Amino acid sequence: MSVKNFTLNRREFVAGTAALAAATSLPLPAFAASNVKIGEFEITTFSDGHINLPANGTAPDANPTERAAALAKAGITSETRKSPINVTLIKTPNDFILVDAGSGPNFVPTAGKLESALGEADVDPTAITKIILTHAHPDHIWGVINDFDELTFPEATYYVAEKEFAFWHDPDVAKNLREDREFFAVGAKSRFKAIEEKIKFVKGDDEVVSGINVMETNGHTQGHVSVELKSGSETLIVLGDALTNPVISFEHPGWKPESDQVPDMAVETRKRLLDQLSASKAKIIGYHLPPPGIGTVVKKGSGYAYEAIA
Ligand SMILES: [Zn+2]
Repeated sequence: MSVKNFTLNRREFVAGTAALAAATSLPLPAFAASNVKIGEFEITTFSDGHINLPANGTAPDANPTERAAALAKAGITSETRKSPINVTLIKTPNDFILVDAGSGPNFVPTAGKLESALGEADVDPTAITKIILTHAHPDHIWGVINDFDELTFPEATYYVAEKEFAFWHDPDVAKNLREDREFFAVGAKSRFKAIEEKIKFVKGDDEVVSGINVMETNGHTQGHVSVELKSGSETLIVLGDALTNPVISFEHPGWKPESDQVPDMAVETRKRLLDQLSASKAKIIGYHLPPPGIGTVVKKGSGYAYEAIA
């Protein structure tokens, strides 16, 4: 796709989200931070802002009455919803590790707040040593570049699933994307290009540092990964976009959000995760769960539910 198409596509997308913003009223804080500890890992989430999305897109395949009830339970009663963005920072004895990089200045005006949120907590971008990218959607990878088209986190090494990288570089990538999201591919490739020399490819179960592993949770995108932190008997999983809505992803894991690129695989991944996480009682962090996005999965009746911790 040409640069001109890219610009037009993005302009339409931004105009769409701006119109959605005007139609919603629930305020969300621009900044949120919260702490949990797993052994010697200190974990904090920072808000990158939010994206405005059509509410029905969380489950276009669901029965409309059931969907409306589930959305209402999640606090969404209008036609649009604000999808918050929680970026995880892990402090280890030797590293500052980010999971995903936020949206940066060029995606939508309501997002791209990560740098200022980190600044409020006195975290210097040059202190970030590693960034694990769960996938290459704009709200996760576009933030690798700042306002000046320079690397936001110049000292970081980037951990990228090889499968995800390959998907976005496939010459036929557009065929596997919704038409209004073709510009995602152009954006992903330009960000990968910017960090090219700093990428380390990973696959399922690879260790990033001792106690922190990559986990394959494909489906939201072809190469989507999560991050598992372990210390003794404690576990925390940074889920990326494997579970996104506090009601629908947990109570209706079989419904298919329009943002999932491989819907059947995403359903399978959600069901596997819910089964594992409810049994292990691991803590979870969801990129789009209500800020600060930290909680657990509990069994409830024949299904599951999300319980926020902080
Ligand atoms: Zn996302």
